Amino acid sequence: MTDCIFCKIINGEIPSDKVYEDDKILAFNDVDPQSPTHILVIPKEHIESLNHLDENNIDIIKEIYIKIKEIAKEQGLSDRGYRVVTNCGKEGGQTVGHLHFHLLGGRNLQWPPG
Ligand code: AMP
Repeated sequence: MTDCIFCKIINGEIPSDKVYEDDKILAFNDVDPQSPTHILVIPKEHIESLNHLDENNIDIIKEIYIKIKEIAKEQGLSDRGYRVVTNCGKEGGQTVGHLHFHLLGGRNLQWPPG
């Protein structure tokens, strides 16, 4: 996906502040953090949004959630608490068309969101 900013981060065209990487998953600090910890966890495979998950690509979600849990622990958030958010589509607030999970923590997060 040549126009995808997150694919460019994955292939190194755009720099990122990496937190974790393996052959299928990349995690990096959000450039515009909304909380003291704000990490984006993404599949390396280009999946546009939650709407584009199906039987063929759903397995990565299991791996991503296990990794999010591990990263949250490394960040000292397991006991404090944290939030995982996936925005989907325009009214959901999605601005980058590559499926991603926001890991937010380090302060009291308001609920309900705005
Ligand atoms: P969303 O609005 O849910 O699509 O989230 C996209 C997120 O990507 C936002 O929180 C942005 O701050 C973040 N973002 C956009 N470009 C970059 C970048 N080059 N490096 C890190 N985070 C980015």
